[in-house]
Amino acid sequence: MKVYENISLKSHNTFGIDVKARRLVVVGTDEPLPALEEPYLILGAGSDVVFTRDYPGTVVLLDPAAADAVLQADGTVVAPAGMVLDSLIQWTLERGVYGLENLSAIPGTVGASVVQNVGAYGVEAKDVVSRVEAYDLRERRTVAFSADECRFGYRTSLFKGEPGRWLIRRVHYRLAHTFEPNLTYRTLEALPHATAAELRQSITDLRWSKLPRPEEHGSAGSFFKNPVVDESVCRRLKAEYPDMPEAHAAEGGYKLSAGWLIDRAGWKGRTMGRAGVWPQNALVLYNTGGCTGAEVVTLAEAVRQDVQRRFGIGLEPEAIIV
Ligand SMILES: Cc1cc2nc3c(=O)[nH]c(=O)nc-3n(C[C@H](O)[C@H](O)[C@H](O)COP(=O)(O)OP(=O)(O)OC[C@H]3O[C@@H](n4cnc5c(N)ncnc54)[C@H](O)[C@@H]3O)c2cc1C
Repeated sequence: MKVYENISLKSHNTFGIDVKARRLVVVGTDEPLPALEEPYLILGAGSDVVFTRDYPGTVVLLDPAAADAVLQADGTVVAPAGMVLDSLIQWTLERGVYGLENLSAIPGTVGASVVQNVGAYGVEAKDVVSRVEAYDLRERRTVAFSADECRFGYRTSLFKGEPGRWLIRRVHYRLAHTFEPNLTYRTLEALPHATAAELRQSITDLRWSKLPRPEEHGSAGSFFKNPVVDESVCRRLKAEYPDMPEAHAAEGGYKLSAGWLIDRAGWKGRTMGRAGVWPQNALVLYNTGGCTGAEVVTLAEAVRQDVQRRFGIGLEPEAIIV
């Protein structure tokens, strides 16, 4: 275990916001946790958080270098929660097990990918996760969850609903020894690929053509969730905006494109202070250079209010404001 006092979190969040933590504790996957006083925050790679002020308590990180993934004979892969998800995907392809390719290049760690039920290009974490080992910080014991018990939803899970209670330590994935590409996402049908490695590369290239690379411009990826509305709301908007994209939502109702609404409201490429709306993708708020979390939140609120006023739709952030 390593402990740092009064340390900058700038390199621990992809927005690149320069705040300090009073204490930062880095623990190994199986290392006992020290007693934690409130407030504390479990952090992965910080790719879905916006820090709005210095963190007054302890930030707990799982050491990314602490352990390796393990491949079992039945294709189950057991990965430590601190491992970078994209490194795990490369690791699985090198060992001839498949199912994670479509999640390539999503920033962040294995543990957070379960908390957030990350998804891209037709696959969500819930489609491949079979078991989660988590430490209950309230009861101080380790609990194993089946995929059903994780209560996955759109960018959410049981773990997201109880912040601070669970430290995910290991994730089990049920993967296949035979590669069967998942091309259900429309854009993928047109992509040339034959092997899993080629599909992974195509997806990686596609992602970075639309998203700011964290090493160039800070962001948390999609800042807002796509809103889910009932049929009457969808029909009202469709009558006024026939070109508005919509899709049936798995949870019932219709999923609208938050990016389309923000773009249509004229926000693409606009900046407020040092925060901006990414010119290639209106769903992404980004750091134009040296921005604070407060500037991001001010821009997000202006966007949210404008979308509410124009379309009667309330956007909810996907990013976690700390
Ligand atoms: C450029 C860019 C593109 C992105 N694209 C996508 C995308 O396509 N799809 C998508 O779903 N997301 C996307 N994201 C969001 C982000 O990558 C995911 O939410 C990712 O899972 C965050 O991982 P992290 O390790 O950085 O988590 P963090 O941001 O550090 O933490 C996220 C949450 O998980 C909790 N947490 C982290 N680790 C643990 C743990 N071990 N145990 C318990 N709780 C934990 C934290 O407390 C926090 O609540 C994108 C982000 C960026 C910057």
